[in-house]
Amino acid sequence: MLPSSQPPWPARPALAALLLALGLASLVLWQQLLNAQQQRIAERVSYQAHSLARQLEASLINQVDDLERLAKRWNHRGRIPREEWVLDSQLSLKHFQGYQAIQWLGADLSVRWVEPLPGNEAAQPFQLTPAHPNFNLAMQAKASGEPRFSNSFILAQGGRGFILYIPLYISDEQHQQHFDGFIQGVFRVEPLMNELLRGLTDGDFSTALVEDGRPIYRHAAEQAIPALQQDIPLLLLNNSSFALRLNPTEHLVRQLSTPLPEFVLGASLLISLLLVAALALALENARRANALHASNSQLNEQVSQREQIEQVLRDSRERLQLVLDLTDSSRDGLFIINPQTRDILYMNQATYRSLGYSAEAFSQLLKEDPDQLLPGFHQWLESVRRAQQDKLSQIFQREMRRRDGSHQAAEISAQLVLVNEHEYLIGVSRDNNERLQMEAQLQRLSQQDGLTGLYNRRFFDHQLASEWRRLRRHNAALTLLMLDIDHFKAYNDLLGHLAGDDVLQQVAEVLQKCLQREGDAACRYGGEEFAIILANTDLSSGAHVAARVHQQLAELNISHPGSPIGRVTLSIGLACIEPSQDNQPYMLIAQSDQALYQAKHQGRNRSCEWHAGNP
Ligand code: GH3
Ligand code: MG
Ligand code: MG
Repeated sequence: MLPSSQPPWPARPALAALLLALGLASLVLWQQLLNAQQQRIAERVSYQAHSLARQLEASLINQVDDLERLAKRWNHRGRIPREEWVLDSQLSLKHFQGYQAIQWLGADLSVRWVEPLPGNEAAQPFQLTPAHPNFNLAMQAKASGEPRFSNSFILAQGGRGFILYIPLYISDEQHQQHFDGFIQGVFRVEPLMNELLRGLTDGDFSTALVEDGRPIYRHAAEQAIPALQQDIPLLLLNNSSFALRLNPTEHLVRQLSTPLPEFVLGASLLISLLLVAALALALENARRANALHASNSQLNEQVSQREQIEQVLRDSRERLQLVLDLTDSSRDGLFIINPQTRDILYMNQATYRSLGYSAEAFSQLLKEDPDQLLPGFHQWLESVRRAQQDKLSQIFQREMRRRDGSHQAAEISAQLVLVNEHEYLIGVSRDNNERLQMEAQLQRLSQQDGLTGLYNRRFFDHQLASEWRRLRRHNAALTLLMLDIDHFKAYNDLLGHLAGDDVLQQVAEVLQKCLQREGDAACRYGGEEFAIILANTDLSSGAHVAARVHQQLAELNISHPGSPIGRVTLSIGLACIEPSQDNQPYMLIAQSDQALYQAKHQGRNRSCEWHAGNP
C-alpha cells in the first residue's frame, strides 16, 4: 500500500500554472480572433454602408433622369404643351413613388403647373422670393444651367422636403436663349427616403438621413447596434450637406460573424485541459511508480529483517528448547507459577516426577488443592513474600507430599518476580532426604566414638548439659554411672593393645544392651572409662542398670589373665542429682567419679553409690 500522508506534490502548482498559462493564451488568442473578426465585420459593414450610400445616390440620379429628359426636350423644342407635360409628369410620378409633386416654376419664379394637384393645392399660387431658403440655390441653377438639389425645408404643402431645380431655357427666333423657369421635382423626406432605400437595406441597418449633423429621417430596424454606427457622406446630385447614418443590426453582424473565435477558444481550452491532464496523469504514474518502487524496497528490507529476526528467534527457540531439555534432565525441580491463580507457566519433569505425579495431575492438584502437594502452601507463600520484603534467606526447608501419601523433605528456593505487572513465583525444589540423611550421619559420626560405636565424650558433655536443663524444668532426677575396666593396663600388657581394643568393643556392646529407655545414653568417657546418663532416673533404678551391666559382662566371661578374678570386670560409681539452680553438671560427674574411686578402692568389680556425707 502506498503511503497515504504524502507531502504536497510539487508538480501540482507547476501543472496549475501551466493550465493557467495555456488558459490565458487561449483567451488572448480568442480575444485576437474576436478583434480580427470585429474589425472584419466593421470593414464589411463599412463596405456595405458605402455601397448603400452609392446606390442611394445612383438611385436618386436615376429617378430624376426623367425630369432632366423632360427639361432637355423643353430646351430643345421650346416650351412644351401643358397636356404633354402632364402626361410626361404622370409617367415620371408613376415610375418613381418618391415624388410629392412635379412642378413648373415659371421664369417669374411663380408656380404654374402642379402635378398631381390633389394634395399639392397649397403650392398654387407660390412665388419663389429671395426670402425663400432655396432662392440662392435656384439662382445658381439658373446661372449654371445645372440641376440643383436643395437642402431640406418646410414645403408649401406642409412637411419637410426637398426640391430639385432643373433650369429651363427656350430660344427665340434669333436663337437667343431665355430663362424659362424650373422643372421642379418636389420630394417629401419620408416618401423619398423610403422609396430610395426600398430593397436596399434588407433590414440589415437602421438608417437615418443626417443633414448638417441633424437627423431628418429615421428608419429603425430591430436590434441595431449603436456601437457600429457609421456616417457615410452623401452627394445628392450637387448637394453634399447630407450623410447617411447607418447602424448595422445584430442580424447582419451575426451573418458576418463566424463562430471561429469561440470554437478556437473552446478547442484550445479543451486541448490545454487535456494536455495538462495527460501531463498530470504521466507525472502521477511516475510518482506512483516511484512510490511503488520505494514501497517494494521497504518491503524487501522488512522481509530480510523479518528473516533475520526469524533466524534469531529460531536460534533462541532452539536454545530455549535446549535449556528446557537440560532443565528436564536436572534432578532439581524448577517451576514458575502464578502465585495468585497457581497456573503453571513452566515446570520441569523433576518437579512432578519426584513426587510421583504426571504433569497434568500435578498442575490440577496445584490449582485445586495446593496443600496436598505442599502442606501449608498458603502460609509458605506468605513467608516467601515476607522473606523477600525483609531481605531474608529465601531458602525454605519444607515437606512435600508424594502421590502415595509419603512425605519428601524438600529444600525450596523461592523468589517472587514482577514482570509486565504480573507476579510470578520462581522456585527450585530439591529432594532433601539424602542430604538430611548425610547430615544425620555426619551428626552421628561427630557424636560417636570410632572404636566402640558409643557416643563420644563431646556428645556426653552436650547431652549431660541439655538433660540437665530439661530435667531441671521438670524437677526430675538425673543419674550418672561412671564405669572403668579393672586392671586393664595389665590386660593390654599381657594380651596386647589390639586385644584390649576388642575388649573395649565387647564392653560397649554390653552397655548398649543394658540401656532400655529412650534417652538413656552410653558414652565412652575416655580410654577404658565409660559413662551412662540415665534421665529421669533415681539412684536405685541406676543401681539396677549397674547390676545388669555387671551381670551381662560376667555372662560374657572375657578371660583376663592379669585379673585376680580371671575375667574382665569393671567398677561403677553412681551418683544421682535433681538438677536445680544450686547445682551444676560437673558436680554430678565429680560425685560419680568419687563413687567409682570408692568402688575401685573397695576391691573392684562392684558398684558404689555417692551419697551426701560419704567420704
Ligand atoms: P585399675 O583401673 O583397675 O586401677 O587398673 P588399670 O590397669 O585399669 O589402671 P588404669 O586405669 O590406670 O589403666 C588404664 C589403661 O588402659 C592404660 C592403657 O594402657 C589402657 N588403655 C587406655 N585406653 C586404651 C585403649 O584405647 N585401648 C587399649 N587397648 N588400651 C587402653
Ligand atoms: Mg582407668
Ligand atoms: Mg581401669
